[in-house]
Amino acid sequence: MDGCIFCRIANSEIQSEKVYEDKHAFAFLDINPASKGHTLVIPKKHYQDIRDIPEEELSKLIAAVKKVAAAVMKGTGSDGINIVQNNGEAAGQAIFHIHFHIIPRTKGDNLRLFGSRYHYSENEMREIAERIRKSF
Ligand code: 5GP
Ligand code: ZN
Repeated sequence: MDGCIFCRIANSEIQSEKVYEDKHAFAFLDINPASKGHTLVIPKKHYQDIRDIPEEELSKLIAAVKKVAAAVMKGTGSDGINIVQNNGEAAGQAIFHIHFHIIPRTKGDNLRLFGSRYHYSENEMREIAERIRKSF
């Protein structure tokens, strides 16, 4: 898509520290990493977020995420990884070309990806579950 920075990275029009590429996916280091080796995996085709990427394309993308995740863990020698995927500005999405973050973790690194938790009031949990069930 015109003007999309991740489309331009996938086309190699913009330089990136590429770590993996296949027919459908492209993976490169995040320029502003949460930890050393923080990697982004994107589809070569432009989709905004989880809602508009077709299931078959998402399957191909997640297959690449699986491969890259294993290599990032091995290559960084990390103890674990978080896989994060933000949808919408409110969720922290800044680039509107779907991407998965692969974030290497080490014991005691004190990275706080879930800084706070929501506390339900009475009946609220049952009510919101019912609303979600009715939204399929
Ligand atoms: P989001 O907040 O949309 O989930 O994540 C976007 C990520 O893309 C951010 O972590 C940001 O550091 C990264 N990013 C933004 N622009 C560039 C860029 O030009 N090159 C690279 N390598 N990463 C970028
Ligand atoms: Zn794009």
